[in-house]
Amino acid sequence: MKGPNNHEDLHFLLLPFMASGHMLPMSDIAVLLALRGASVTLITTPLNAARLRPSLSPHHSLISLVPLPFPPATESGLPEGCESFDALPSRDHEPAFFRATEALLAPTLRHLRARCRTPPSCVIADALLPWAREVAREFRAPRLVFHGYAFFATLCLHNLVAHGALTRVGDGNARVVVPGMPHEVEITEEQLQVDERLKDLWEARETADGVIVNSFEELECEYLDVYREATGKNVWVIGPVSLSNNPSNTIDRGGKTSPNELWCLDWLNRREPKSVIYVSFGSIGRLSPPQTAELARALEASGRNFMWVIKDGGGLPKEFKEEPITEKRMVVHGWAPQVAILSHRAVGGFITHCGWNSTLEGVSAGVPLVAWPLFAEQFINEKLVVDVLHIGVRVGVERLSGWAGEGVGVVGIEAIERALEEVMDGGKEGVLRRKRVRELGKMARKAVDVGGSSYVNMTRLIEYVSEHRSVKDDGT
Ligand code: UDP
Repeated sequence: MKGPNNHEDLHFLLLPFMASGHMLPMSDIAVLLALRGASVTLITTPLNAARLRPSLSPHHSLISLVPLPFPPATESGLPEGCESFDALPSRDHEPAFFRATEALLAPTLRHLRARCRTPPSCVIADALLPWAREVAREFRAPRLVFHGYAFFATLCLHNLVAHGALTRVGDGNARVVVPGMPHEVEITEEQLQVDERLKDLWEARETADGVIVNSFEELECEYLDVYREATGKNVWVIGPVSLSNNPSNTIDRGGKTSPNELWCLDWLNRREPKSVIYVSFGSIGRLSPPQTAELARALEASGRNFMWVIKDGGGLPKEFKEEPITEKRMVVHGWAPQVAILSHRAVGGFITHCGWNSTLEGVSAGVPLVAWPLFAEQFINEKLVVDVLHIGVRVGVERLSGWAGEGVGVVGIEAIERALEEVMDGGKEGVLRRKRVRELGKMARKAVDVGGSSYVNMTRLIEYVSEHRSVKDDGT
């Protein structure tokens, strides 16, 4: 008899969009499927495969990581070696990058026709890869969309499109009330960052056989119910997917561990519980040089321990460059093992840009947040964190910034210090905030454990694919 974790007859094809915030959760989904005994093919490009390999290799017997060539710089017009969205020097390269991702369709089809013993039973594709439809069509497999948003943001954006409200939205400071939400949600036109991709995301979801969401029901059930009712769509909420892997594999998440990463954990080991503020703006976000200098001043003035991950050192004070590691501070240039850091007992607060993965990773670790949104749907996530869940405080950013942190004013030292104080201490309200996020962290871990809501949803997803794959095999 077939056991609950014996699904080697099922073959999932995973097509992640090439950006850290999209590839990492998709590689976590690959691990979740492999842990259920399903076989997985994850297609990406050579440089991205090299980054994903370390955390996938413990599951290598079931996960096949396939690197397919990315168009060379001479064809794509992108800088040499630029295979990931977060490696783009500026947003000007965005259209060229999206065009380059389309070039993966033909080699993907060739690979699947020639090399795969069993055709895909299901295609799980990022909403930003519209060509995945052709792959699913050729193999007559159900296509499920993964786009990496919170359910709250998904429902806000769905409602704005479905109620035709987007066409009336400009890019100013006027406030928009999001229609169809279970409670009032107001946001400025600019913060919605309406661009042409939003419609693509919506379309990818509407035409798919179902949607996979990295969240957990206990966190967002109110919005999930409204979305299900409004769309009648199959939705599987299976997260937090960052908890899927064995904790020892999370050190390598996003790249092979370098001495830098081991030093991070070693430095944390020597700090008191909950005494460290972790600061990161994700894989793309950067602050302007004057804002970097102001944040440095605020962190120093707080007198607290902090670990700050920096992608671009512009504006960093001289002493931070000359002496990145001291008793009080650790400045990490480049990549840090974020999931492992957040779950370390020494971390007591997280200054985050509110990218959904980072937000959920903070929640899963039970760490209260200082919300510092920059762009994309991060202002909507800030609302969820501060106004709905009450597990974080605003630093007070109102304007959407560019990739290099340009176009917004500087958040001053007083506002930053106030937010830090509230999150790391904050009196009675601070204690309640910490208690709430700790409870949510417990619920998150329970959700992915055997019998938890996300675990059960993953079982349902596998059952759905089993049934629908057979229907398609029969040619009906
Ligand atoms: N991340 C990491 N180390 C870094 C920067 C980012 O491990 O130095 C991971 C982080 O844990 C998260 C993802 O990269 O899983 C970033 O996704 P998110 O949605 O938070 O933000 P984005 O980078 O897409 O803006």
